[in-house]
Amino acid sequence: MYNKVGLDKDLIKIHIENKSSQGFTDKKYNTFLDGRVLQICFYSTGCRCSKNGSCIMCNYGSIRKNNLSEEDIKEIMNEVFSEILEMPNVLLLNCLGSVLDNEEMPMENLIALLEEVSKLDIKTIIFETHYSTITKSALELIKNKLNNKDIVIEIGLESASKQVRENCLNKYIDNEDVIEKIKLTKSFGFEMESNIMFGIPFLSKEEQMEDTIKSIRWCFENGFDKVDLFPVNIKPNTLLYKLYENGKYTPVLHRDFIQVLGKIPQEYIGRIHLCWYGNRDLDYGEKKTILPKCEEDKYDECMNFYHKFNMNKDVNTRIKLLGNILSEMGINSIESKTLVELPADLAQPNIIKSRTKLSTDYGR
Ligand code: SF4
Repeated sequence: MYNKVGLDKDLIKIHIENKSSQGFTDKKYNTFLDGRVLQICFYSTGCRCSKNGSCIMCNYGSIRKNNLSEEDIKEIMNEVFSEILEMPNVLLLNCLGSVLDNEEMPMENLIALLEEVSKLDIKTIIFETHYSTITKSALELIKNKLNNKDIVIEIGLESASKQVRENCLNKYIDNEDVIEKIKLTKSFGFEMESNIMFGIPFLSKEEQMEDTIKSIRWCFENGFDKVDLFPVNIKPNTLLYKLYENGKYTPVLHRDFIQVLGKIPQEYIGRIHLCWYGNRDLDYGEKKTILPKCEEDKYDECMNFYHKFNMNKDVNTRIKLLGNILSEMGINSIESKTLVELPADLAQPNIIKSRTKLSTDYGR
């Protein structure tokens, strides 16, 4: 039921070596259009947590040797928007880590970016960033430059369980600090969004499902407005990829991911956005991302379902879409009530408690 291999210092070392073998890129940005959401990723010198071996599943590909300049930022914005035929509803801004981290997006670049964004006819702007980079001064700057926009700050929680994050992902986050950041962000009238992952390594399938549902519940009970939910993508040059190659991790099945959606409490279903479900990839050179799996003849059905789910925010429509696909897959959706009614506390499965404590040498 459960793979006893746990994270330790040697495994984290493998992760760091794998990622640093990728070399550097001169690339300045990439874009991704998901419905009416346009994402611009500004290439940077990389996430500072990643350099310490954090997040064994994360890899944005090659990083830059030097950060972009203020001029680069203006040129990128100009290039992207001169090619656009129809303005998106939402603009998502990120780096190869955190858009509000001055190590990746120096202050003069951030100011230039905000000034460019203020000229756009796009109402909602999302900033994707590590929770520790959310500061009063950064939020004040955004408020001053973009006072006519709806602002969303998106952070990557992955799981609401500290033990799962630390022992299974090598990701260090303090939930109490997150709650403080939510309060601070909301005091500016901004919204908060969290990334939650399904398919966490070192957990059994049942534990993965339970962790995802509990994490979603925690997010909404603690002030997040939306959750971006995604199945694990196995990215090249990560420890997770190594575990997969060695038969220690198996890719998420679409069937299981959809089953998890069926277990989300109905009051939250309208506030979920699905991402990285197999609709996109990054360039890692020779190796390709291992995406969630399903039978070949079910692929289109799954992709159509995810797309329709995202495009229809209405709760009843989403429940209907889910009911249809669950019954087509022969999954009894009644089963969902069992997990939905689990106590909201984040007590973790015993297996996590007994796991060897991770060395802090590489942690933050
Ligand atoms: S998940 Fe976020 S914090 Fe972790 S390494 Fe990736 S970008 Fe950095």
